Amino acid sequence: MKTVSVTSIIDYRKCPKFYQYRYVDKLRVPPNANMVSGSVVHGVIEYVLSKDRSLWGTLENIAEVLMFKEFAHRDDARTQVTKYLPGVLRALSKVPEWVWERTWHVEELMEWTYRDPNCPACLGAPPVTGGAVHTAHCNAVTVRMKPDLWLVEDGVLDIVEFKTTENDPLDYLLFNAQHQFYAIGLMKEHPDMLVRFRYVCLPTTTKKAGDHIPWVFTTNAIAAAREELVQGAVDVGSKMYMNRGFWCKGCEFKGLCMTVLTGGDERGMMEEMKEVMP
Ligand code: SF4
Ligand SMILES: [Zn+2]
Repeated sequence: MKTVSVTSIIDYRKCPKFYQYRYVDKLRVPPNANMVSGSVVHGVIEYVLSKDRSLWGTLENIAEVLMFKEFAHRDDARTQVTKYLPGVLRALSKVPEWVWERTWHVEELMEWTYRDPNCPACLGAPPVTGGAVHTAHCNAVTVRMKPDLWLVEDGVLDIVEFKTTENDPLDYLLFNAQHQFYAIGLMKEHPDMLVRFRYVCLPTTTKKAGDHIPWVFTTNAIAAAREELVQGAVDVGSKMYMNRGFWCKGCEFKGLCMTVLTGGDERGMMEEMKEVMP
C-alpha cells in the first residue's frame, strides 16, 4: 500500500515539481536563517514539553544549544547564532501560558489508513489462497502525520500547530490544510470527541503573537477535509509539472526551475545539490 506524509501531500498540491525535487530526487539546500529559527522554536517547545520538567535549562540555553546544532555546518556558526537567537527568544516569549501548563502529546508520529470501498481486499473479504489481493485500481493509502501538539481532556480533542511567521492564524487555515488532516488522523482513535484546533503564530519579529480561540471541527468540515485528504494522498506523485505561482518566489528550488525555463540543463545543478546534503 502506498504511504505518504501529510507534508508531502501539501507540498505536492502546491507544486508537483517541488515534490519531485524534494521527495523523489531528494535534493536539499542548506536551510536559511528563517528555516533554522522556525525549527529551533519548535525544538525548544518540544524539548520543554516532553522532558522531565526538573531537567529544564532556561529557554535561552536550550535555544542556543539547538541553534548551534543547526548551524554546525557553517564556519560562522557563532555569528549566525548571535544574529538570530534574539528572534527565536522573542518568538518563544510569545508562547501562551496555557501551552506550558497542559500535558500534551508532542510531535508524535502517527498513521491513518484509507481503505478503498471498491476493493474487496480493503473491505476485509476473506483471503483467497495466497492472501487477499487488492484490485489494480485500489486507492488505499496510508498517511503519516506528526502534529505539533495534541491532547484529550474532558471529551475534547485539542490540536495545536505553531508557526513562526507573521501570518494571521486565519490565513494558515485557508492556505494549509495540514491541521484538518491531522484532526482526521487523530479522530481514528477518538471518533466521538469534539475536535478543536488552532494555529499559534509566534513571529520572530517584534509583531505580537497571533493566538486565538480554538475552532471547532464541524461535521461538514470533517467530511470535506476527509475527502480532500484522501484525494490529496491518492494524487501524490502522479504527475510532475511546474506549478508556477507566487510561491516560487520563496522556493528553495527556484534556481533549478529558472535554469530549465531559460533553456539550461538542470542535471549538473541537481548533482551538486545531492552532494551538499546527501
Ligand atoms: S520554483 Fe516554483 S515551479 Fe519550481 S519547484 Fe519551486 S514552486 Fe515549483
Ligand atoms: Zn485495496
